[in-house]
Amino acid sequence: MKAGAPTPRSLVGVHERVKEIRDWYNSGRVERTLVALKNRGFGAEYVRTSEEAKKTILEMIPVNATIGFGGSLTLLQVGVLQALRDRGNPMITTVGAPPGPQIIEERRRALTSDVFLTGCNAIVEDGRLVNMDGTANRVASLVFGPKRVIVVAGINKIVPDLDSALWRVKHVAAPMNAKRLGYKTPCAETGVCSDCSSPERICNVISIVERRPSMSDITVVLIGEDLGL
Ligand code: SF4
Repeated sequence: MKAGAPTPRSLVGVHERVKEIRDWYNSGRVERTLVALKNRGFGAEYVRTSEEAKKTILEMIPVNATIGFGGSLTLLQVGVLQALRDRGNPMITTVGAPPGPQIIEERRRALTSDVFLTGCNAIVEDGRLVNMDGTANRVASLVFGPKRVIVVAGINKIVPDLDSALWRVKHVAAPMNAKRLGYKTPCAETGVCSDCSSPERICNVISIVERRPSMSDITVVLIGEDLGL
């Protein structure tokens, strides 16, 4: 078939069938994960699209709540940070800030935000949350400090077991995020983890949240799209 030629009718049917089967398969994974998250004490919601996710998250957050957030491509894709900023929520951010001690101070301040928003590197179907961090401010805020935490993730972050989650962190999330952020790590060059000692190592800490920590308030919003890295 020539490039640019219309898709034959028979192929349209194939694409629809593939989508149907994928939707069926993913709905099972999502259902299992939502049940498991709730069994581990987390709030858990599913929305089909980024647009629905933005609306849902905005409704969950009071207009005067101070917002902290961990670097997350998913949050940027959903557009919720800009929407919060536009409606006047006070934001704690180091985005665009010059290097220096004020960055670490802002990250400490985010530990006491009203609402902390973050992505997630992997969500195990049994309800465990797995994340890596170079500075560890994101994984720290996830488990202690903010009054409320909202974790936002596309269904591509769901993995079948803990080994797959740890593999995903090191071999998918780390190389692509290191590349995105311009870090000088071997994985940002080769796409492969070599267990480096780089000063910019992006995976100094790997956290596994087994259950919602006592007295915390953590909700996971799963989105039926592939989002983030
Ligand atoms: S150990 Fe180094 S090479 Fe491996 S994923 Fe982490 S930053 Fe990349």
